[in-house]
Amino acid sequence: MLLFTPGPTPVPERIRQVMALPTIHHRTPEFTKIFKETRELLLDLLKMQDAVMLASTGTGAMEACVTNLCHKKALVVNAGKFGERFVKIAKAFGKEVVELTYPWDTAAKIDDVVQALKEHPDIDAFCIQICESSGGLRHPVEEIAAAIKAHNPDVSVIADGITAVGVEPINTTNIDALITGSQKALMLPPGLAMIGLSLHALGKIGKGEGFYFNLASELKKQREGTTAYTAATTLVIGLREILHILLKEIGLDEVYDHTDRRATATRVALEALGLAIYPQKPANAMTAIYDEQAEDIRKLLKNRYGVNVAGGQEDLKGRLFRINHMGLIEPNEAAWVVNAVEKAMADLGRIEYRGIANKIFNEIYFSEE
Ligand SMILES: *Cc1c(COP(=O)(O)O)cnc(C)c1O
Repeated sequence: MLLFTPGPTPVPERIRQVMALPTIHHRTPEFTKIFKETRELLLDLLKMQDAVMLASTGTGAMEACVTNLCHKKALVVNAGKFGERFVKIAKAFGKEVVELTYPWDTAAKIDDVVQALKEHPDIDAFCIQICESSGGLRHPVEEIAAAIKAHNPDVSVIADGITAVGVEPINTTNIDALITGSQKALMLPPGLAMIGLSLHALGKIGKGEGFYFNLASELKKQREGTTAYTAATTLVIGLREILHILLKEIGLDEVYDHTDRRATATRVALEALGLAIYPQKPANAMTAIYDEQAEDIRKLLKNRYGVNVAGGQEDLKGRLFRINHMGLIEPNEAAWVVNAVEKAMADLGRIEYRGIANKIFNEIYFSEE
């Protein structure tokens, strides 16, 4: 079965091998060396002033950013399940929240954000997804962040990049916290979250907030090459290996270029079958297709063609399917997925199978190569 869900993504053989080695103790010079090397690579990936790794899923990192960087009122963009999650986190900690709600296919607008900041001068943190995975939507985060800083540089910009880091270049100039997680583009098992932090964020964190997710105490330890509590040693070892592959062996530009080709080729191939791309501004992390027979297509993909893709959530349950593009994916596998969609549609009697999805995918993916 090909795992083509936008998280978790398949873990490469080499990563599984290094993670299979005997467990080492986390308070040892041996692990400190590994931790420091991983931290350097992570800073290269995130392109931020500082970074912290947390033994947690991505949601824990979202929580840490909200508790450590929002002290008064949060402005949150909610265009899907993950935007909604920022709202729930802020409320769980008793923070006031101003919510900008959009349909799941619609990107946040700069003017709406600036308007909300004008109406609520006490907003001190802004939360948004770079890619909202519920609908495969790309928000114009860099442009919004620039407008926020031009309006009030004191507002902390928290960007959930869990399905954007390692997928596409991100301009972090005006971003204060860049969140990512292990099980998406970084191709690791779930359980490790990372946050890149700007100078502004480091100032805002001060002594930190909370206990386990106190970013000040974590940062202090991590700069020394250790962690406040037991490190997720196995996942850190996996992270060092995958970052070495992505940054030193392949090169990030190549990774981004391949992902872009895969995403573009998939979108064009599926549109040629008469399918509709769901979001108005699709992210490269995944292709989300809106279709009344999404569930039938998904079942055929799984049961007849050996491909596991994700469905839709809530209102979109049964009417969306999402194909992953994150991580290192062989073009033959990605081409098989669009071919399988064409077969499934033919099985449903909607089209005649002609092998055009595969042809278009290959023409686009391998153009000018
Ligand atoms: C996967 C994901 C998360 C994190 O979810 P966890 O289950 O806590 O790892 C957060 N935001 C986005 C946009 C995601 O895609």
